[in-house]
Amino acid sequence: MSVLSGRHFLQVPGPTNLPERVLRAMDRPVVDHRSPEFAALLPRIIPLLKQVFGAKTGEIIIMSGSGTGGWESALVNTLKPGDRVLACVNGQFGLGFGNAARKLGYEVEELVWDWGQEVRPDDLERRLRSAGAAGIKAVTVVHNETSTGVTSDVGAIRAAMDRAGSDALLLVDTVSSLGSIDFRFDEWRVDVALCGSQKGLMMPPGQAYLCASPRALALSQDGGSPRNFLDWGPMLREYERGLFPFTPNTLMLFGLREALVMLVEEEGLPNVYERHHRLASAVRSSVEAWNLSIMCEKPAFRSNTVTAVLVPDGLDGMEIVEHARSRLNMSLGVGVGQSRRRAFRIGHLGSLNELEVIAMVSGVEMTLREMGLPVSLGAAAAACERAFVTPPAPSGPGPG
Ligand SMILES: *Cc1c(COP(=O)(O)O)cnc(C)c1O
Repeated sequence: MSVLSGRHFLQVPGPTNLPERVLRAMDRPVVDHRSPEFAALLPRIIPLLKQVFGAKTGEIIIMSGSGTGGWESALVNTLKPGDRVLACVNGQFGLGFGNAARKLGYEVEELVWDWGQEVRPDDLERRLRSAGAAGIKAVTVVHNETSTGVTSDVGAIRAAMDRAGSDALLLVDTVSSLGSIDFRFDEWRVDVALCGSQKGLMMPPGQAYLCASPRALALSQDGGSPRNFLDWGPMLREYERGLFPFTPNTLMLFGLREALVMLVEEEGLPNVYERHHRLASAVRSSVEAWNLSIMCEKPAFRSNTVTAVLVPDGLDGMEIVEHARSRLNMSLGVGVGQSRRRAFRIGHLGSLNELEVIAMVSGVEMTLREMGLPVSLGAAAAACERAFVTPPAPSGPGPG
């Protein structure tokens, strides 16, 4: 039986579903990117993006590309050829950030944790204190490791760098956390944070956003590595007039303004973070109801945007994902890298509400049951409803 009517359930950890309003904001004739109408966008967008990053001090960079392009932009603007980089690796994206740096010609060392673990500040401190670590110019970290569903504590990571006396730059990938999980650029003294458009920010794929500290900006001004399109200098100069040094994704910027207004001004960031926490807790309760394990062992580090579920012996994560797609018209994330067949991933970020989560976990449950796992039907929906239902107000309808 295939499902052709109704909507597709896009529950991968990015790209995520777009709100109708964001779609409609982009559904317009292409504008002149040197017109006053266009120039009015950036002065509105940039302060909102700063709020999402938690940055009063940093400067925002908007580029065409994706999260991967954001890695490159962060690296080539702040580092000189041959500079040493310490890559924190606790999953596929941490590995990818480090590999990007290696391919660009930096000297990369890795600090590796088992998949499912967080980036451990004490291990980082020890490494930075060890002989020969003094020359390390940058530490790369993924705030929310999307391959394993683990959120690391960036503030504690910066504190560990301080304790070790390191003056390395802190470069942070926030691709699957920004706009969904609290991020504090200034407070954690991050040097560059980078994000893609298509995850928590409720936008289509195609842009990357960065926030650069005054120190990162100074380094980019007097050095960095050879670059042209990714050079922050011309971008920041043009932004003063609301313009870009190249043709930007103009229509996406109309969508971005709408998405940021929804997140920052209408729902409010604290409520957005609370919603993601609530939805993620319900998904985790559903996994418990199936008697399955979450890849991130320590509850304190479980991600509020993505849950990687370990599949029991005899089942194959890729087959589960394929079944959900063909049978229920729902996209789940496959396991990544090491956990390709051992896990599947549920994305629960962006434009998402309680009823959608109930339908989604019910779909996962139907899939598991049809794949032969003895889950009890309705368990996930019940777990979610228990998490979502609030007690009736004391002044509810009485017998009279
Ligand atoms: C999705 C993702 C990326 C890669 O982003 P692209 O937009 O696909 O280039 C990088 N890091 C993390 C943590 C991600 O979740």
